[in-house]
Order: sequence, then structure tokens, then C-alpha cells
Amino acid sequence: MLVRDQAARAGINLFGLVDAARFDRCQPKERRLGNVLRGCGTAVVLGTAGRGLLQAQAGLPAGREAGDARALAAVRATAMASRSVGPCTLVLAGVDTPVNFARLGEAAGFGAVSPVSGLFLHPEFGPWLRVRAALLFPGYPFGAIAEASIADRFHPCCSCARPCLTACPAAALDGAGGQRSGQCEQHRLDGGCELVCCSRQACPLGADHQDAPHLPLHGHDCAVKRRVFRVFAWLRRVTLVVRGRPPA
Ligand code: SF4
Ligand code: SF4
Repeated sequence: MLVRDQAARAGINLFGLVDAARFDRCQPKERRLGNVLRGCGTAVVLGTAGRGLLQAQAGLPAGREAGDARALAAVRATAMASRSVGPCTLVLAGVDTPVNFARLGEAAGFGAVSPVSGLFLHPEFGPWLRVRAALLFPGYPFGAIAEASIADRFHPCCSCARPCLTACPAAALDGAGGQRSGQCEQHRLDGGCELVCCSRQACPLGADHQDAPHLPLHGHDCAVKRRVFRVFAWLRRVTLVVRGRPPA
């Protein structure tokens, strides 16, 4: 598939298709894909995991912002390639998005949300992944979409000693999948966990795929940036309609 190949070349190493109608049946009214694109049938879910993005775009600047910029460039390259299939709507993951991207990642078969830490876990990459965006298409330009979720059979936390909980210096994880986001954010505003989330780092899953120290690609967002983001959130458009040629 051309779009999948382009995504892989750009560094998007998680690529999955979700049947939007099936997904929406399990989502609260306000978080449905159909609200973003009326008649949406297909969601192409894009994510990055491990150091793939680093290898795909070697020689570029380091740092957290640089990592996010690389991911955005990879998403945009994939969205442009998708014009060969037809018009689609690009939805970027982030604060205040209209879609639950962790659940979308689950539906795409990337992994499962931990009932202990709330981290999104992949069987190979552990917590070192991030769902970046979705391309929403009307109808089914890629054909019928099979159920891909592995959440019903992937339960790594059941047999784990839960080091993610004790590793958090701010006691921000409640052990039931919830995060006391205020405590986490305050800790990071105070300069803690600047480059890496200690809970993520303590998870034994996918330990070989941890972010490179100079390019944190899959940690929490920068706390300061998040606050600034909230102040200006109303200015930001989270969706961008990518116009393309209709399917042949
Ligand atoms: S970023 Fe730090 S404070 Fe926040 S959950 Fe991770 S370990 Fe805890
Ligand atoms: S450390 Fe264990 S309990 Fe915590 S997220 Fe990882 S697998 Fe789950």
C-alpha cells in the first residue's frame, strides 16, 4: 500500500486501519470520529515507536521540540501521500483533541492502555510509542477493515511487580490507571522528569526501545509547553482538511 510505504519511509512505524463506525459505537457521543468528519468510514492511525523516527531522519537537530517537529513532518508527508487515495481529514493528537487517541491506537492494534499506570503499552516497544495522528476518509477506500485490537489478550500488567508506580517521584499514578495530572505537571514545572518519565523508564516492557537521551520522542509533553498550549488552545486548529484527487 502506497500510503503505508510512504509512512514507513518518513518514520511512521505504527500504521493501522480502524473501521470508524465500529469505533464510534464504543465512544462517548462527544468523542466520535463521525463528529470530525461526517460519513467517516475509515481512520488511518499513525504512530511512532522506539527509535524508528530517529533512524528515518538522521542528522537532524536533537531535543524534545525537534522530536515533535520530526514526527509532525512525517505525519504531513503521509497525509500528502494519501491524496492518491482521496480527500481526507487530518486530526493531530494532542491536548484537547476531539478524539481519544489512546483508544484509537488500541483499535488499530498497536497495544493496550495499562490498567495500572495508564501508559499505552505495545507488546514490543512497551511504553515507548505515541499515537500521533489519524487520517479520516469517507467510506472505505482501502476496503473492508478487520478488527485489529489486541487489548482483549494483551495484559502485561497482570504479572508485573508494578515498578512504574514506585518510580514516579511525584506519586502521580494512582495505581488504577489514573494520573493525578496536577502533581505530575507541578513536578515537571519544578524541573523534574525533564527529559524522561521515570515511570515509563521503569517499565520492563520494551526496555531496549527507550528514547535516545538526546531525542526524547515519547515522553510526556513539556509541562511549560502544555500550559502555554492551554492558554492558546482556542487559537489552534486541530484538524486540517487535506484535499486530494477522488479515488480512480
Ligand atoms: S513524568 Fe515524572 S511525575 Fe509525571 S508520571 Fe512520569 S515519573 Fe511521574
Ligand atoms: S511497569 Fe508493569 S504494571 Fe507498570 S505499566 Fe509496565 S507492565 Fe504495567
